Amino acid sequence: MTDEPNLKHKELDGRKIAAKMLEKTGDEVARLSDGGWAPRLVSVVIGDTDAVEIYVRNQKRTAERVGIAFEERHFPADITEPEMIAAMEAMNADPRVTGIIVQRPAPPQINVKRLQSSIHPLKDVEGLHPASIGNIVYNEIELGPCTAMASVHILKSTGLSLSGLEVVVVGHSEIVGKPIAFLLMAEGATVTVCHHMTRNLAVHCRQADALFVAVGKPGLVNGNMIKPGAAVIDIGINQIELPDGTARTVGDCDFESCRDVAGWITPVPGGVGPVTVAMLMHNTVTGARRQMEFYGSAFAADGWTTSPEQRGGRG
Ligand code: NAP
Repeated sequence: MTDEPNLKHKELDGRKIAAKMLEKTGDEVARLSDGGWAPRLVSVVIGDTDAVEIYVRNQKRTAERVGIAFEERHFPADITEPEMIAAMEAMNADPRVTGIIVQRPAPPQINVKRLQSSIHPLKDVEGLHPASIGNIVYNEIELGPCTAMASVHILKSTGLSLSGLEVVVVGHSEIVGKPIAFLLMAEGATVTVCHHMTRNLAVHCRQADALFVAVGKPGLVNGNMIKPGAAVIDIGINQIELPDGTARTVGDCDFESCRDVAGWITPVPGGVGPVTVAMLMHNTVTGARRQMEFYGSAFAADGWTTSPEQRGGRG
């Protein structure tokens, strides 16, 4: 026996957590498909396909793993915003499309937030429509923003009781930091949110039983800033150049020094990223189910049928 801690056990393995989620999602996909509501996720890429290739490939692979149809639609780099919004509205009206994801970045003439707002809220599987973000305040989180939901799911996997937990969220973007804070408040945590004007980041971080970092600055948080035994959820994704000229993906926390102090820590890559993709699939299933509930009863009220054959063989 040795007193050496097994550091590997402290790592929150995002791939394992994602695998569990995907198993459940796969069962749901099968149930929906049997009912004639097979989920179909459409990935919208505008312009440069190379910039988003890795993300799209990863999403496609994960979707296919759970039986979700994944369709890539490419639009030219010089498409106008009204044309793009018209294309989104056509997808909203198409009953075969149950979920839409807008890949970023988009060309400068396209306002991504406006585009996201043009998606029907039931097809907003990224959870970034203003309605989805706003619903979080009411603790209605059926289609919440994927990264925020994934980050909170990872914290829950530690088994820590969230009620009364001291949580610090570093970064307050609309799609990551702010929703994390609201989700945790709903769970009864005491939440402090830090941003670029926070006077002494280290003082706040050291108070945290659970620390979420979503900024986009490598090395922003190090082991001296962490309370011993805290759970550290590192959401940042940064490319850094090593002295030998090779590139490496790192988070916002200095992994080596934080790991020695933290009780749990997510690695980057392999932490929040895979759980975010699994959450996207979970949302895709939720969106399809809610469309089935909503439109299924509308069809029934109209004397229509929900059978796949009579809806043109969907599913
Ligand atoms: P963002 O919109 O750029 O927001 C960054 C936030 O960090 C802002 O709220 C900003 O506050 C705050 N900030 C800047 N400097 C700071 C400092 N010195 N101390 C404390 N806070 C500071 O970015 P985001 O979309 O939230 O993404 C954040 C990071 O997460 C990025 O690295 C991104 O790549 C990554 N990410 C990962 C995933 C995933 O699946 N793993 C998904 C999405 C994003 P102010 O507004 O006050 O300046």
